[in-house]
Amino acid sequence: MTSKARTVAFQSGERNIFFHILTACNLSCRHCYINTAQHGTVTLSKETMLEWLELFADPAKKTNVIFLGGEPTMHPDLASGIKKAKELGMAVTVDSNGYLFNDILNKTSPDLLDFLSFSLDGPDAQVNDPIRGEGVFNICTSNMRKAVVKGYNVSVIYTVSSLNIDHLHRMIPLLKDIGVKRFFIQVIGLRGKPAHESAGDSGWQVSPEQWLATVPAVAAQAASAGIHVTFPKVFMDKDETFECAGIVTENFFVFPNGRVYRCPLCEDHPIHAFEIKDNRLVHREGLTEDNFFQLNIAEGCVMNMLLQPDTISYDDEGNPDHKISCCLLKQEILPE
Ligand code: SF4
Ligand code: SF4
Repeated sequence: MTSKARTVAFQSGERNIFFHILTACNLSCRHCYINTAQHGTVTLSKETMLEWLELFADPAKKTNVIFLGGEPTMHPDLASGIKKAKELGMAVTVDSNGYLFNDILNKTSPDLLDFLSFSLDGPDAQVNDPIRGEGVFNICTSNMRKAVVKGYNVSVIYTVSSLNIDHLHRMIPLLKDIGVKRFFIQVIGLRGKPAHESAGDSGWQVSPEQWLATVPAVAAQAASAGIHVTFPKVFMDKDETFECAGIVTENFFVFPNGRVYRCPLCEDHPIHAFEIKDNRLVHREGLTEDNFFQLNIAEGCVMNMLLQPDTISYDDEGNPDHKISCCLLKQEILPE
């Protein structure tokens, strides 16, 4: 195995818009992070979706927009949003649960949509469907194949938890067979349902040892098989410099109720740094996530420390064994 992971440094001058255009979804995944009490139940009108895209357009910056939900293909005007984003010079991704509603493969085109990403949490129905719902594996993989045949760049997002980490390596032959170009491995967060629902005796989370023993090795194998792999850094080495994306990058997590966050870990709390009011992006005053980004602690990410303290272990002298990286810091291995 020769593939080596490199940390993808935060890029200044680049912005990422994670654009939730609705919160409705046809599925009810066990780890869903959508929280309608905080994010509302609104589906943006076509006009509002297009106007909000313009708020984030900046010809001086490379802008990536990721259309999200709920299930974004349930929005009847998603294709118009994709076209508008491309006209504004953005790189466009849609993250789908695989159902591809509203004939989206025919309503848009690979020229406009840079990547179509599918969420899949197992290499077969036995692993995936207990997490994402009965019958989901077959529909998702069948639509992935249709998308590849039509010329779309297809990527897959796999959310690692205690329920599926042992099956991660079996994704590689499946992804190769379908023709997937990029593989995003995520770590489950303790937000939304996972914070409250048990996944069995071990809980949802994987231990640092299990993560480190499994994920980098599988990522290297996938890269050897010709797939571009990205996975979160999570545990930093002692000599690595910690950076908070809320300070050094321009990420905007936009929700249909007008809340705009800089940090995904903050999304369950009304501490969003921005809001969209009367079609203007407004910076909020008072206690917001911005105040937390400034805090410098030995454990690394402040929000992780506040919301998921059980991810941190300490040595006998009370020092953290690992600094926890910003959840947005990624490592990647390029295909061989
Ligand atoms: S597909 Fe996404 S939005 Fe829908 S239930 Fe699953 S995690 Fe939630
Ligand atoms: S995850 Fe932590 S380090 Fe990253 S933006 Fe949020 S608070 Fe900052």
